[in-house]
Amino acid sequence: MIPAAFEYHAPKTLRQAVATLRRYDGEARVLAGGMSLVPMMKLRLANLAAVVDLSKIDGLAFIDETANGLAIGPMTTHYAVESSDVVRRVAPILAETAALVGDVQVRNRGTIGGSVAHADPAADLPAALLALEATFIVAGGPRRRTIRADKMFVDAYTSALNEGEIIAEVRVPAMASGTGWSYQKLANRASRFAVVGIAALVATDEAGACTRARVAVTGAGPAPVRARATERYLVGKQLTPANIAKAAARATNGIEFLGDVHGSPEYREHLTAELTKRALTEASERMG
Ligand SMILES: Cc1cc2nc3c(=O)[nH]c(=O)nc-3n(C[C@H](O)[C@H](O)[C@H](O)COP(=O)(O)OP(=O)(O)OC[C@H]3O[C@@H](n4cnc5c(N)ncnc54)[C@H](O)[C@@H]3O)c2cc1C
Repeated sequence: MIPAAFEYHAPKTLRQAVATLRRYDGEARVLAGGMSLVPMMKLRLANLAAVVDLSKIDGLAFIDETANGLAIGPMTTHYAVESSDVVRRVAPILAETAALVGDVQVRNRGTIGGSVAHADPAADLPAALLALEATFIVAGGPRRRTIRADKMFVDAYTSALNEGEIIAEVRVPAMASGTGWSYQKLANRASRFAVVGIAALVATDEAGACTRARVAVTGAGPAPVRARATERYLVGKQLTPANIAKAAARATNGIEFLGDVHGSPEYREHLTAELTKRALTEASERMG
């Protein structure tokens, strides 16, 4: 398939990229790894007047350790996240989740900024970023603004970015020491996208009572969400198999389950509870 004709721009700065996007008044998009945008253009699901390639802008691919965690550039590839010693130490769930995206070719091209902005309902990284309570620094308005992960994923393929805005940085709080983590997904056998994916972080006090639980669900509904009923149920309780099972059953609350060729709504509902149980079990085993 051949995309419709479009103009190509390769600005050297983020400011130029924003100005170029603005000139096209909603008819242009930025190009990151191209893993999602290019197929959409070829299938004529996206008919654009122009693409604005971010790859010629220096300094958009980085992983820095900060006082509170990590600052990650939007053009950082999934492979760079997966193989970073710093990410593995500071936020291991993010490295582990990145390693499960697609195949190695996709991970070598696909970027963290592209994955977030594209807001594919079956994408993996959004679940880990929700559980980590990441924030996104966004350029394009009069001044940079910050969007929290739980406000970013609005609907299928719809993020909270306004027309012409570009994710300039992803901030990831460090996982507190002793936190256990797990990302569990049932992967589509062809693409590896999540039919359902669950990210879980848990921590307990010295008596074994849960002090913190963060659980996020992707693939199940139109947008990835936090499983807040599961989180609330766990806090203050021991992470016993019985409590984990009861908490996991609550992960389906409020989700409008998708049905497609990969699974019915009922199947996704079942997977959500089952994979939450597995994720919480593995996370509790990995604490300390
Ligand atoms: C065969 C295949 C298998 C895949 N399997 C998986 C999988 O298992 N799990 C998974 O999570 N993903 C999977 N993906 C998607 C992959 O993770 C892509 O990396 C991701 O969807 C988009 O990233 P990208 O850098 O390629 O973005 P692009 O395709 O370049 O852009 C996607 C969208 O995001 C916008 N965008 C990009 N960067 C920014 C930015 N910084 N600010 C604002 N907007 C931006 C673009 O304008 C475009 O609208 C797969 C893709 C393919 C082709």
